Amino acid sequence: MDLELVTIGTELLLGFTIDTNAAELARALASVGARVVRRTTVGDEPQAIEDAVRAALGRARFVITTGGLGPTRDDITKRVVAKIFNAPLELDATYLEALRERFQRLGRGPMPEANRSQAEVPRGATVLPNLWGTAPGLWMEGDPGTVVLLPGVPREMRGLLEHEVIPRLRQPVAAVIRSRTLRTTGIAESALADRMGRLEDQLAPVTLAYLPSVEGVDLRVTAWGLPPAAADEALTRAVETLRPALGAHLYGEGDTDLAAVVLQHLERLGEKLAVAESCTGGLVGERITAIPGSSAVFVGGIVAYANELKVRELGVPEGLMAEHGAVSEPVVRAMAAGIAQRFGTGAALAVTGVAGPTGGTPDKPVGTVWLAANLRGEQQAVRRQLLGGRDDIRRRAAQAALDLLRGMALRHQP
Ligand code: ATP
Ligand code: MG
Repeated sequence: MDLELVTIGTELLLGFTIDTNAAELARALASVGARVVRRTTVGDEPQAIEDAVRAALGRARFVITTGGLGPTRDDITKRVVAKIFNAPLELDATYLEALRERFQRLGRGPMPEANRSQAEVPRGATVLPNLWGTAPGLWMEGDPGTVVLLPGVPREMRGLLEHEVIPRLRQPVAAVIRSRTLRTTGIAESALADRMGRLEDQLAPVTLAYLPSVEGVDLRVTAWGLPPAAADEALTRAVETLRPALGAHLYGEGDTDLAAVVLQHLERLGEKLAVAESCTGGLVGERITAIPGSSAVFVGGIVAYANELKVRELGVPEGLMAEHGAVSEPVVRAMAAGIAQRFGTGAALAVTGVAGPTGGTPDKPVGTVWLAANLRGEQQAVRRQLLGGRDDIRRRAAQAALDLLRGMALRHQP
């Protein structure tokens, strides 16, 4: 089945909001055999929306829109699509009551009148209940074709897509496009390609894509146009073919975060973690605390940016600092040992480096980063030469620090 997307929102055209809805819809629909063949973005403007939806219906007979359903802007999308289908708007008393109840239940007081229009439904439309917000989705079918209206708020769009749209599309599908992603870090794209060698030839009919980012290189395998079960089987075979070549650089699948993997290891080992950060300014702590449940392992950290703080708060000997400089092996080792001792943890991470754009020297150019990890009395330190601007270097440093500790944890048993 071929369909078109129309995403609606002036903020999308201005570039203030990235159109994640279109990307998510395309991925999710492909996996159930519905192919997005074109997508259009228009501003919050009735004529533009009408033109876009009519044109899309003229090509594909199935169109999904997101956005422009909110109460503030007069529900433009709903009115426009009602017009295309020649369907008058009628008040849906059941939905109005449900909306009123929702406001009361959430303790938001009486429902504002502005929300009343949300309960108006084009005649003949199916209301798709929105459990994640107030604007319901709508499913309209008629002479012009089929139009499905979804809210713009990504969380609401996702909820409706999963619970209302995909189940309605699930006719027996002949062919799907499905992918799996293997996440690697600490190895360059070209080095990874070398390791793949001739393995790539064995993957057919599955294709392989390299997706580099500051966190590492993701390998995405995709099965095209196979029946669902055959696609899943082909992907499993491809993953098992690739896995041995990736070795310890492989840290997870899908959208697994390296910080979550490190936390799992430490939880398994029953160790607590503390961090001492200089050039990353708290990024390592941010990565860790972004993971739900991190409190079971993470106790805290110190951002010791100034040298005197490295001495006073982390116990780095002043002499080391003077002799080797703040970006050096002895200092990063002392930082990790200092934080582990002060916070009483069995695991620790420390980062110090030159994030740039200034401050580089011939023997410590911008991008020079020293990392240290402690685990159960053992310590490892590495020097990394990281690429990119200040932001990239800091983010790569945080990732490399987490990976250093993961490498150590892999070798320990509880
Ligand atoms: P709704 O239909 O749910 O009321 P709306 O478009 O009327 O959505 P807005 O206030 O314009 O409501 O958007 C809600 C939020 O969703 C905003 O933060 C907006 O940036 C975001 N958003 C809208 N469309 C998209 C999109 N295609 N991709 C990602 N975010 C989006
Ligand atoms: Mg909008």
